[in-house]
Parts: sequence; C-alpha cells; structure tokens
Amino acid sequence: MKLKMYIGLLWLLVASQALAQGRYQVGDVVPTPYLKVYGYERFFNSTPIPASVKARMKGCSFKANSGVDWNDLRYLQVLHCDAEGNAIVGELVCAKTIADDLLSIFKALFQSGYPIEKMRLVDDYGGDDEASMRDNNTSCFNQRAITAGGRVSMHSFGLAVDINPKYNPFYKVRGRVYIKPEGSEAYLDREVATPYLIRKGDLCYRLFKQHGFHWGGDWLSGKDYQHFEKPVPRPRTDRNNPPADRRQSLPDPPNPIPQN
Ligand SMILES: [Zn+2]
Repeated sequence: MKLKMYIGLLWLLVASQALAQGRYQVGDVVPTPYLKVYGYERFFNSTPIPASVKARMKGCSFKANSGVDWNDLRYLQVLHCDAEGNAIVGELVCAKTIADDLLSIFKALFQSGYPIEKMRLVDDYGGDDEASMRDNNTSCFNQRAITAGGRVSMHSFGLAVDINPKYNPFYKVRGRVYIKPEGSEAYLDREVATPYLIRKGDLCYRLFKQHGFHWGGDWLSGKDYQHFEKPVPRPRTDRNNPPADRRQSLPDPPNPIPQN
C-alpha cells in the first residue's frame, strides 16, 4: 500500500515537472494522477494557427492559392481516450466556424471515455489521407486537389472530421465495390467487435448530430462511416464548385473486391 502511494507521488512529481517544462506533446499519455490533481481543462484549447503548425502544414495539408485563409482556420488541442483508457494529447485543424463545436464534442467524448485511438495532423503522414486512415488517425483539415468532377472535399475547408477511420471505412458501389482505407474490408460488417466502431445512436453520433453535423453512415449511395460534416457556409472560395466528400468524386474504384 505504501509502495503504491510512493509510486503515485513519484508519478505526480514527474508529471508536474513535465507540464511545467511543456513536455506533454501530441501523442503523449497524460498520467491519471496528474489529471486528478490539475484537471483536464488546460488540455482543451482553440487558437489561431501557430507559426510552428503553419510550417508543418504549408505545401502539405495547406496549399497556396486555395482560397482558404489561415484566419479561416483554428488549431485545437484536446485530450482523447484510447481503448485502454489512456488519456492522450491530440490535435486537429478545423474551420473557425466549427472550432467551438469540436472542442465541446471532443471534451464530452473524453469525459465519457469514448475511445479514439490517435489524433494528429495529417501532415505527420505527409498529407497522405490513405496512410493516415490506415493508421486509424482521426483528422479534419486536409486540402485535396480538385477532382475531375470539379468538386472539393469538405475536409478542404476544415468542415469535416473523420473519426477512427480504419474501423469506420468509406465504401461505395459503382459497378464494383471499393473501400477506403484499403485493408478495412472486415469493418464493413457493422456488428464486428471493436471498440472503435461508430454505431448509429452512440455517443459520438449523438454529439455530432446535436451540433448540426451530418454522418456519412446515413448516406444512401454509399457509406462513409468515419465522416461527419457540418453544412455551413464555406470560407471564400469558388462558389461554382459545390463541395462533396473527396471519396465520392474518385474517378475509378482502385481496389475492387471479388464478389462471391
Ligand atoms: Zn471524411
């Protein structure tokens, strides 16, 4: 019992020093004793995009001359819980117009222990959405080239969020079935046992709906189970290009699945 107390005190000391020195970085687990003493509010922040984050995003998730201005965006830091109950520092870039929504949603998800495995900028994956999804990384802002259909993803404006994408894939049938990310075929079975599955009516679904988001799992011409988007006016850009999820605009199925 005493040993447990000493270990707890030591952990608290290390944790306090870590915060004092600004050592809790994105991806770090914040020790429970620290959260018990200092609370979690300090980990939930919305700010203009810091210079260091701009440097990561430029030429990656943020393209020049895209029509989106840095002032249209916000950088969020939050805590999220993984399936093992670890409190992890996460980050997200989103449209300024939905920053308060997301802060409120992710705080409620954290408070209830709703599992989200990873949450870091897609720039850590070189802006490669597929790589980010395969790693089950939750993300929001990512500017994509305008597709042949002339349509732009809501992610390009930071108005859509993909939650636990590996376990909540996108799929569409267009002659044949194709899936994003590749390798997530098993999770088209929406009864499969994994803590990261989004189920209609669960807390994640309810919170996003309460804040006015649409869920890709409700779409009829395909499904995007990871995708929540808010239909609000986009920042200045070409109004002649109606937004749509980038994966709806893919020209050809890249990974056909044999039909049995
Ligand atoms: Zn999406």
